[in-house]
Amino acid sequence: MWIDTHCHLDAPEFDADRPAVVARAVAAGVAMQVLPAVAVAHFGAVRELAHAHGLAYALGIHPLYVHEHADEDLDRLQQALQQRRDDPRLVAVGEIGLDHFVPGLDRDRQQRFYAAQLKLAREAGLPVILHVRRSADSLLAGLRRTEVAGGIAHAFNGSQQQALQFVERGFKLGFGGAMTHERALQIRRLAAALPEPALVLETDAPDIPPAWLYRTAAARAEAAGQGRNEPGELPRIGEVLAGLRGFPVEAVRSLTLGNAIAALPGLGRLVS
Ligand SMILES: [Zn+2]
Repeated sequence: MWIDTHCHLDAPEFDADRPAVVARAVAAGVAMQVLPAVAVAHFGAVRELAHAHGLAYALGIHPLYVHEHADEDLDRLQQALQQRRDDPRLVAVGEIGLDHFVPGLDRDRQQRFYAAQLKLAREAGLPVILHVRRSADSLLAGLRRTEVAGGIAHAFNGSQQQALQFVERGFKLGFGGAMTHERALQIRRLAAALPEPALVLETDAPDIPPAWLYRTAAARAEAAGQGRNEPGELPRIGEVLAGLRGFPVEAVRSLTLGNAIAALPGLGRLVS
């Protein structure tokens, strides 16, 4: 079995054919997916999808969506975590973090939501799923202030030194479609060189299409649905990791499965 540790199955890109997407994933051996929420309005959707399809979910407010949220929405997250504390399919707080790449975002507001959500994760005893974009050092500073039960730094694209600091704090690093592009030298170097316990696989579907699905924005606009990533691509992404590491694919499968469960222990109950 493969685990996709990061899939936005609730995204509108899947509205037309969601059950088929899940069926293709299962047929490809991806029997488990973690569905992180990006906004309070999505909390119900990720939970219902996780229950309908035997998957896992996380609750959180994504840094690119904090401007759509009021401070009281942090209370709504706290209440949702309370209400679902005995739900075995709730495995993390996420997707939370900081985005210092997209221009025009309010960094103070992102920081406030990040810090508050780390505290909620600690309170709930849950690991976190982190969005990292040009923000690794600020995220690490937050983790030093508020210790949480580890988790995953998803779509990791920082330096090796930053990567190892996440590992020291009990985090795994998520590798996905970006690693399949030959020009992504830094990400490929990291995927090849990081310690084995640091690696987990993800698609971030419908985003970050692997090289074999990649289309330019113009081509995507012309043919809707083209270039969309989906969880069933995970084994092929795993083959790329196997190639970079010089491992057999089967070794990468079992390594990343064990690492995903170590990062998000709630998955252990769901996949055993
Ligand atoms: Zn995401």
